[in-house]
Amino acid sequence: MDKSVVIYSGGMDSFTLLHHVIDEHDGDTSKVAALSFHYGQRHKKELDYAAREAQRLGVAHQIVDVGTLLPLLGGSALTSDVAVPEGHYAAENMKLTVVPNRNMIMLAIATGYAVSIDGNAVYFGAHAGDHDIYPDCRREFVKAMNAVTEIANYRPTYVRAPFQQLTKLTILQRGAELGLTAADYARSWTCYNGREKACGRCGSCVERLEAFRDIGWIDPLEYEDADFARAVLTAAR
Ligand SMILES: [Zn+2]
Repeated sequence: MDKSVVIYSGGMDSFTLLHHVIDEHDGDTSKVAALSFHYGQRHKKELDYAAREAQRLGVAHQIVDVGTLLPLLGGSALTSDVAVPEGHYAAENMKLTVVPNRNMIMLAIATGYAVSIDGNAVYFGAHAGDHDIYPDCRREFVKAMNAVTEIANYRPTYVRAPFQQLTKLTILQRGAELGLTAADYARSWTCYNGREKACGRCGSCVERLEAFRDIGWIDPLEYEDADFARAVLTAAR
């Protein structure tokens, strides 16, 4: 099988995805390369987690700094001074976390990288929970991008989003199938705030905590407001 490039943010979804893709290559980490994007997020803690895990696994890893695009990608809480919204992703204000055209930008670069290393697949961690808010996580988008990358170069490259129909919970269940435990997820970072401990209140933290609650695991990350995090973890489904 050819090499695959994984878009790896360092969060729990792409952490699981990286392990999934290595498994698809029968554990041959020389067939897998990880790419992280620094597109002006206000912190790069996630990227540090990504770099550490890639190194631990022996996977080639590069951080692509697309920060020079920042002036063009304003208006998002991830790239500008807008406050990171708290609460569940379903809330309208979580649209603030949308970086315009983010996935198309990342997939275009990752596809170029895949071609340059004789790879033929680019994986990204779109999942079912993203659909409502992020148009570029929907099935139609993945299908259309795949159609383009298949013909954009001399050799076809395929865009794969194997978790596209999975929820955060079923992504963790996939992780468990791969042999990952709750403790392993201490090597993933999900929070939008890059402080010492995860905030426990941003949409990303809340969804992570709910997934851990639903699978019956204790999230090994430390949270700033431990009582609040525990309340999410133990709340009725
Ligand atoms: Zn958070």
